[in-house]
Parts: sequence; C-alpha cells; structure tokens
Amino acid sequence: MRRAILWLCLLCLLLGGCVPQKAQPKHYTATFLTLFDTVTTIVGPAESEEAFQLTAQQIHDDLERYHQLFDIYKDYEGVVNLKAVNDSAGIAPVKVDPEIMQLLTDCKTYYDLTEGKVNVMLGSVLSLWHEARTDGIRDPINAKLPDPEALAAAAAHTDPDSLILDEAASTVYLSDPLSSLDVGAVAKGWACQRAAEAAPKGLLISVGGNVCATGPKTETGDPWVIGIQNPDGGDYLHTIYVHGGAVVTSGDYQRTYTVAGEKYHHIIDPETRMPSDYWRAVTVVCPDSALADALSTALFLLPLGEGQALLERCGAEALWVAKDGTEQMSPGFQEILRT
Ligand code: ADP
Ligand code: MG
Repeated sequence: MRRAILWLCLLCLLLGGCVPQKAQPKHYTATFLTLFDTVTTIVGPAESEEAFQLTAQQIHDDLERYHQLFDIYKDYEGVVNLKAVNDSAGIAPVKVDPEIMQLLTDCKTYYDLTEGKVNVMLGSVLSLWHEARTDGIRDPINAKLPDPEALAAAAAHTDPDSLILDEAASTVYLSDPLSSLDVGAVAKGWACQRAAEAAPKGLLISVGGNVCATGPKTETGDPWVIGIQNPDGGDYLHTIYVHGGAVVTSGDYQRTYTVAGEKYHHIIDPETRMPSDYWRAVTVVCPDSALADALSTALFLLPLGEGQALLERCGAEALWVAKDGTEQMSPGFQEILRT
C-alpha cells in the first residue's frame, strides 16, 4: 500500500512537471498617423486581433481628444481648444474642459521645476520660429532666421503670470493680448500618460517616440526592450529594459530647417531665444510620461551639471548625447542598459 502511494506521488510529480506553462497571449501592433503630427504605435498582448483592435481604438480615441484639445493651429467642430484660448488673449476668459485645466496647471509646475526653461507661454517667440521654419522648408534657398528684434519684442510677452487659471470657473485667460500658449514641449507626454493610465496593463504606447509602458511585456514580468534613436539615423544608439513608465527623447534632429548651410532645431532657450547648443539628444526615463517630456526638453536646454541636479530632484534617469557623440548617463540609466 505504502509503495502504491509512493508511486502515485511520483506520478503526480512527473505529471505536474509536464503540465505545459500557460501560453503567453500573442502580441499585436496598431499604427495611427493622424495624432500629434507624428506616428503613434501601440503594441501588446490580446486574446484575438479583434480584441486588440478594440483596445487600440480606445487609446486612439483618447489621444485624438487630447490632440484636438491641445492644438494651437486648428479649430475642431464642438471642441474648445488651446487655439480658442490663444484667440481670446486679452479679450476674455475661455471656459475649458478639465483636461486643459489640468495640463496647464501641470505646466505651471514644470515652469517652476525647470526654473523657467520649459515655459508654455513662449508661444509668441515659438510662432516666429515656426513661421521661419515653415517658410524655409517651403523655399529653402530663401530660408531665414527669425528677425532678432522681432524675437526680442515677442519675448516681452511670455510672462507665465499672464496665464490665469480659474479652477472654480473652469476658465483660462491670457491677460497679455500679445501672449500665446504653445504646449508642444509637454503635450505628447501628457496625453500618453493619460491614455496609458486608462489602458490595460502590459501595453507599449509610442506617440512619436514618447514611449509609455503600462506594465511589463509578459505576465511573468519580462521587460520591454526599447530602442533609443541614433541622432545620426541608422541603428539604435542603445536599447534599454523597461518594466513600466516612460521613455522620452528630445533631439536636434526633429523639426529642423537649414539656413545658409546651418541646421536649426526646434527647442528654444527662453533666455537667448535661439535653439540651444548643448546636446544632440537627451533621453529621460521616469514613471510619469508628462514629467519625462517636460524634463527631456529642460535637460536639452541645460548644461550637464544643472541637468543632473534637476534630474535628481525629480527622481528620473537620463542619457545625454553631446555634439561630438560622447555620452553621459545617470547611474540608474546605466542599470537598465541592454546594449
Ligand atoms: P518633440 O516635440 O520633438 O517631442 P520636445 O518635447 O522637446 O520635442 O518639444 C519641443 C517643442 O516644444 C517645440 O516644437 C516647441 O513647440 C516647444 N518648445 C520649444 N522650446 C520650448 C521651451 N523652452 N519651453 C516650452 N516649450 C518649448
Ligand atoms: Mg518635451
């Protein structure tokens, strides 16, 4: 009898050992080209293609809503967006949706945190760069820099205190008629964060390189492997392991134009009113995608020491790529490096 029990136990053990591991659900990918003027990719597991498409569509719809609300160039039927706020500068407060109020409240925090380097009230200055870049791309032979006097005059209308938020009345008012908002430095990261919070766990959402993981790649906790773009193009500069949270890069290779053989990028130092000259690219890794986006822009505008101090205050990690291709990494960034 005892021998029978022993055999039974052995058989159970053997069978137990042979029980196949639960199969990991298949991963699917969806791509959208109409959000934030860039490519959005969503990757993740699902029981079926149809189930994944439903999830991806929900994320798309969330991102599309933020895209329309934060747009400063276009009107959308039935949407009161930041263009409407800019159009009413110096005229009247505008009643806005809670997402605009929250974004702008967060932007005030980022202004303080970055000691004014990330200022969404820089619209008057940034619009001159936007105009010069658009004209320069359309007609490269006659490409020009914005007029320095016009830039200096515009800079007089970038005071963050003229952005007046009235939470009780849900209104935003630009008290300076010549001021305007441009939330390009934080909008994609902010939208990605909100969309990720509402999405199922274990997805990867990338809005034009603003990457957000809503949890590990597999149920068993395997990390995602995320590629960091090489500023010179070609293969990834590095790949890193990420279990969740955000990876955001600001680079001098985005939204550029050329004047007299010199390339000019789109991240503008509020003090000089010119594109900054410290780095080719800065990548920030931290749990919150909106903060990561604000920090990547700020670090791009700061020398290494000041950037490191800011990073430590925020509990984030970063990779800096200098003009000569040399790299700096914060200690935590080194730890998640794969290649
Ligand atoms: P990307 O939009 O390519 O991801 P960033 O997050 O660094 O890169 O944001 C750059 C955008 O932010 C610019 O296109 C412009 O709209 C805006 N911007 C540029 N300089 C500043 C600044 N100093 N403060 C706030 N916004 C800025
Ligand atoms: Mg940014």
